[in-house]
Amino acid sequence: MGGKVTLVGAGPGDPGLLTLKGREALAAADVVVYDRLVSPAVLAMIPEGARTIDVGKEAAHHKVPQERINQILLEEAQAGHNVVRLKGGDPFVFGRGGEELELLAENGVAFEEVPGITSAIAATAYAGIPVTHRDYCSSVHIITGHQRAGKPLTIDFEALVRTKGTLVFLMGVSAMPAIVEGLLAAGMDGATPAAMVESGTTPAQRRCDATLATLPERAAEMGIHSPAIIVVGRVCALAESFCWFDKLPLKGVPILVTRPRDRSGTLADKLRALGADVTEYPCIETVPISPCPAMEGALADIGRYEWLVFTSPAGVSAFRAALSRMGKDGRYLAGVKLGAIGSGTARALREMGLAADYVPEVYDAAHLGQGLPAVGRVLILRAEIGSPALTEALRRRNISYDDVSVYRTVYRSEHSQSLREALEAGALPYATFTSASTVKGFVSTVGEGADFSRMVGLCIGEQTAAEARKHGIAVKAAARATIGALVDLAAETAAQRTN
Ligand code: SAH
Repeated sequence: MGGKVTLVGAGPGDPGLLTLKGREALAAADVVVYDRLVSPAVLAMIPEGARTIDVGKEAAHHKVPQERINQILLEEAQAGHNVVRLKGGDPFVFGRGGEELELLAENGVAFEEVPGITSAIAATAYAGIPVTHRDYCSSVHIITGHQRAGKPLTIDFEALVRTKGTLVFLMGVSAMPAIVEGLLAAGMDGATPAAMVESGTTPAQRRCDATLATLPERAAEMGIHSPAIIVVGRVCALAESFCWFDKLPLKGVPILVTRPRDRSGTLADKLRALGADVTEYPCIETVPISPCPAMEGALADIGRYEWLVFTSPAGVSAFRAALSRMGKDGRYLAGVKLGAIGSGTARALREMGLAADYVPEVYDAAHLGQGLPAVGRVLILRAEIGSPALTEALRRRNISYDDVSVYRTVYRSEHSQSLREALEAGALPYATFTSASTVKGFVSTVGEGADFSRMVGLCIGEQTAAEARKHGIAVKAAARATIGALVDLAAETAAQRTN
């Protein structure tokens, strides 16, 4: 069967601005062909099994010529692959998406186009500039400011000025002084509000406010560089009061997230939603033990137990897999009560249609062991090296239990010199730790003896903080052992630093 090409707009940078349909296309891709402007956070969504081809282009000399890109798409599809062509913003807005489809259409290759959010409206929106506003304008125009080497701009400035609409120029950073000159020469008032937005919708976003006449000078002062859009029109005056993105509590703050990849999603997303510049570096991985005769044996005899207890979502997912291997579902547990260490684990149970009967007030192993209202036998399904606090508490209360290992935690062993350098240079002032094992995985990743003096470890609880202190990392611990509290801690800590 022949393959297919899906042209997907990756949006302007913020991974949240990729469409649902674009994300689905990515998830199903065998091959992903991408550009320079696609943000790392979107590239991180490419499935592990997919092959990637970087055809990132530079302004003057194309890294991979357009004809060659067209050829690659054709060849990959003809080889039967499901190809995603991932492009910054929207593929058809100065993205040469049309050119890429021509060869496919000629050769009868199946294709689809998934629109993306163009930087022309998104970089403006994140900068607090509504591209239209009833009181100020009745049209918006998207114009290329691309100038061929040595050639004058071929823009009809008189026509643009006559529209009285908002003007958005893409690819116009180097031609900006010429654009300004053209608009002034065509009679536009030099006092017209104007702006530039650099790296829009990313943690590095910067806005330059000016008037048409002062824009070249202001932009030069700030050193505005590509990628940036130029916006001209009265709506630019609203930016100062509407620039919600710049006011986010973690705007631009670099934070390293060390959670295992399959669990990093929520924490990284929550930090990004507050504007943080998140680097995901999963330092540990949880691997279910499969088959797991100890768990399967205990479950086969489930009637012996009064309580079934979980201390992590990873334990719940190992349990879920074992149940399905046994050809059973939640009904099999019938009379057994369920204990969960905290809200994340309880949520994982709920996703299986199971409600936790007990979650301790304080989300840790000791409180779970002390508070579990058990009389009969307890089955604990957890990590290979679980905290002794849980079993000690049960023993003190004369409650019998079986402690079964259902997954193991594997540290990522490869050393990362670039991470160590960034850390020692102070470029990663914060790292989040959600367990003692993420701390250990992190330390082994950057290498023993690294200088941690320019970072603060944001820890989910006391045990995690204690492990970090052991390695000489300055720490702050969240008020509660939840992802929400950890995010609050990050926001508070960053606020203290900048004030
Ligand atoms: N198809 C893309 C545009 C490609 S042309 C889209 O719809 O956005 C490349 C130009 O887009 C850059 O020169 C710059 O002007 C603009 N651009 C792309 N991403 C941007 C971003 N995150 N912030 C500001 N401008 C951006």
